[in-house]
Amino acid sequence: MKLLEDRIRRDGTVLPGNVLKVDNFLNHQVDPQLMDELGAEFARRFKDTGITKILTVESSGIAPAVMAGLHMGVPVIFARKHKSLTLTDNLYTAKVYSYTKQVNNDISIDRRFLKPAEKVLIIDDFLANGQAVQGLLDIAATANIKVAGVGVVIEKRFQKGHQLVEDAGIQLEALASIASFEDGQVIFAADK
Ligand code: 5GP
Repeated sequence: MKLLEDRIRRDGTVLPGNVLKVDNFLNHQVDPQLMDELGAEFARRFKDTGITKILTVESSGIAPAVMAGLHMGVPVIFARKHKSLTLTDNLYTAKVYSYTKQVNNDISIDRRFLKPAEKVLIIDDFLANGQAVQGLLDIAATANIKVAGVGVVIEKRFQKGHQLVEDAGIQLEALASIASFEDGQVIFAADK
């Protein structure tokens, strides 16, 4: 998606450890106009897939997921990383190793919000090694619900996550696909 690639070129910073910092429009300060465009694009790419709900993880997945939910007319549920006093024990949980924070998180979703008839779309900000998506796939499997697709704002194509989703036979849509980082520059798969 050209709009997003241009924004990454303009405002993204490549950090050591193959981390792309995009905190002035995606995962700290958020650009609502851009999120709206991303949501519309997800809706277009997953049109006619019969999705009943969008599944994401707090906190960076929420903004694009909510906009996708708005354009698709479906609710959005985000997995929580911290136990909340208002969450009961009636939870689906999975372990997720965080790429950027390098710690294990237990993520959880209240069982009331995932019913077996559900067909979900998983959305996240980044796809790196696929740990966050795998956690959500684990929860979906436990909840006995179908996963119709995985949509990510940015994938780092050279890391393991892309293959993981492909191997699971799930439709994967990345709005920007990064082939590599070279000398602090972002090389998009589309440029190759
Ligand atoms: P994965 O679980 O696929 O290894 O990593 C995805 C998660 O780690 C995303 O939810 C995102 O929050 C974070 N992440 C992975 N790579 C990057 C990156 O290059 N930049 C930022 N800002 N977050 C990343």
